[in-house]
Amino acid sequence: MSNKVHLGHTARKRFGQNFLTDGNIINRIVGAIAPDNDHVMVEIGPGLAALTEPVAQSIDNLTVIELDRDLAERLKVHPTLKNKLTIHQGDALKFDFSQLVVPDRKLKVFGNLPYNISTPLMFHLFEFAEHIENMHFMLQKEVVLRLSASPGTKAYGKLTVMAQYYCQVVPVLEVPPGCFTPPPKVDSAVVRLVPYAVKPWPCKDVELLRTVCNTAFNMRRKTLRNNLKPMLSDADFELLGIDPGLRPEDISVQQYVAMANYLFDKR
Ligand code: SAM
Repeated sequence: MSNKVHLGHTARKRFGQNFLTDGNIINRIVGAIAPDNDHVMVEIGPGLAALTEPVAQSIDNLTVIELDRDLAERLKVHPTLKNKLTIHQGDALKFDFSQLVVPDRKLKVFGNLPYNISTPLMFHLFEFAEHIENMHFMLQKEVVLRLSASPGTKAYGKLTVMAQYYCQVVPVLEVPPGCFTPPPKVDSAVVRLVPYAVKPWPCKDVELLRTVCNTAFNMRRKTLRNNLKPMLSDADFELLGIDPGLRPEDISVQQYVAMANYLFDKR
C-alpha cells in the first residue's frame, strides 16, 4: 500500500516526515510525556496527529508548531482537535518559545522530530531552558546514545557535553523503523531531557563552552594538549588539575565547564 493511500497524505521527505503508526509505541510515548494542565504543553511537528490526538485527550489546550502548510490546515479543521489546539504554522527552529510562557507554568515540549533538524532544534530549545520543565523527543537512536553518553565511551562528544550542561538526559525507549510510515532507514529512540532548574556547573559564557568543545573534539584521537594548543598551555592545564595527555572523551562536563570559565576569567 502506498503511503498516500495509507495515510491520506503523501509523506514529504524534505520535511523529515516519518509518521508514527504503531499504537502500542504511541501509548508508551504519551505515558512518558504525562500530559497535564499545569504546564503549557507544546508539540513540535504534529504531522497527522499520531501523538497530538492522545495527548490532547487528557488536557484543555495544546500548542503545536508545524512547518507543513497542508498539515497545519488539516489540523485547523480536525473535528475533535480544532478547539483544543493553538496552531503555529512555521519553522520551529525560528520559533520564539518564550512567547508561550505564562506565569507559574513551565513548558513541556515534545515531538517526533524531523531527524535533519533535531540537533539545531535542541540547541535552539536550550536557549529557553529556564522556561522548560522537560522535553521528550523521538530521535535517531545514535543521537540518543550520544546525548546520554558517559565520559570514556565512543558516543561521548560535544553534543553530550552541551546537552548534559543544560539537562539531565534519560533514554526512555527504543523504536524500530517498522513503527513508522514510511519507515526511516535508521533505528529511533525517545529521550527525556530535563533542564536543570539550578545548573550543577554554571558556565560564565556558553558560547565559549561551545568553542572549547568544538576545538577539543576537533580530532578525537589527539590529546587535549594537541587539540587545545591554541587556547591552553600545560601550565594552564596544571592550574585546572586536568591531565593534558587525556583524550577529549576522557574528561567530564564539569571539567569542560572549568576550562571555559578559566578562559573567560583570563580574558
Ligand atoms: N508527530 C507526527 C508523528 O509522530 O507521526 C509527525 C512526525 S514527522 C517525523 C516530523 C513532523 O515535523 C512532520 O509533520 C513535519 O512536517 C514537521 N516539521 C518538519 N520540519 C519542521 C520544522 N522546521 N518546524 C516544525 N515542524 C517541522
